[in-house]
Amino acid sequence: MKLKLAIQKSGRLYEDSIRLLKECGIDISNGVNKLKADATNFPLEVYFLRDDDIPQYVEDAVADIGFVGENVVYEKKKKVDVVEKLGFGKCRLSIAVRKGEEYGDVQYLAGKKIATSYPVILGDFLKSKHVEADIHEISGSVEIAPGIGLADAICDLVSSGSTLFMNGLKEAETILQSQAILIKNKELSDEKKQLIDRLLFRIQSVKKAKNNKYILLNAPNEKLNEIIGLLPGMKSPTVLPLAEEGWSSVHSVLNENDFWEIIEQLKAAGAQGILVVPIEKMIV
Ligand code: ATP
Ligand code: ZN
Repeated sequence: MKLKLAIQKSGRLYEDSIRLLKECGIDISNGVNKLKADATNFPLEVYFLRDDDIPQYVEDAVADIGFVGENVVYEKKKKVDVVEKLGFGKCRLSIAVRKGEEYGDVQYLAGKKIATSYPVILGDFLKSKHVEADIHEISGSVEIAPGIGLADAICDLVSSGSTLFMNGLKEAETILQSQAILIKNKELSDEKKQLIDRLLFRIQSVKKAKNNKYILLNAPNEKLNEIIGLLPGMKSPTVLPLAEEGWSSVHSVLNENDFWEIIEQLKAAGAQGILVVPIEKMIV
């Protein structure tokens, strides 16, 4: 028995989906026929689909699980379970207006025409703000709508904002922060659930490793206590004596978020020869 995973067949999520599987130790035999591929070392079968279709396939159990953007999952409103955020495909769904407009707040949108490929999410947002606007659904090239007089505003995915800028638009309101997530069918056998747990364990180990760095440094022994106090570590730091009398080597794990701050404090406390090394997997 194999777990059936749906991923985007080409586009922004494809590379990162394959990379994540690889980092989880799962190799895909990528045949010429890219509709379906087998993993060679995990009971997994990968289906390559349009991202928009993935929630439906997972709801219908054609696929057991899928990697797909939150934006698509919330727009399609299919009956699937959200299992885990995957840390890639980050973007936001935002409302944008012409650069010269005085936006103020969401009331600006009352009575306006808004072009989008996300009528459901946008509709829910406007309703929650008690704003009535005219939602105009279009399937692509949403950002040109204001320029050709089709709409007053748009609601579209943004990452850097350069596409908006090039089309004479400015971001006015973010309505959803999105990234790729793992979704699953609601009624899976225990056997399939166990396979998902195995996969999930690997995904979480990869994610944790990405958020952490391994750090090695040299410290004069009289400063050891102070330096150890700055390091969180998985349990506590490893301390080894150096060949040079009066010095020790200290090893620990640091979280990316407070990384630079702690490095500065370590230097100030007398740490030398600080090395920072990426972690490949982190099992805790
Ligand atoms: P498909 O042919 O599979 O329907 P698509 O054109 O709908 O492809 P892509 O543009 O490849 O989709 O985007 C896939 C997903 O990547 C989006 O749904 C979103 O979750 C994510 N994404 C990340 N950054 C961006 C961005 N700047 N613009 C659009 N999507 C982004
Ligand atoms: Zn799509």
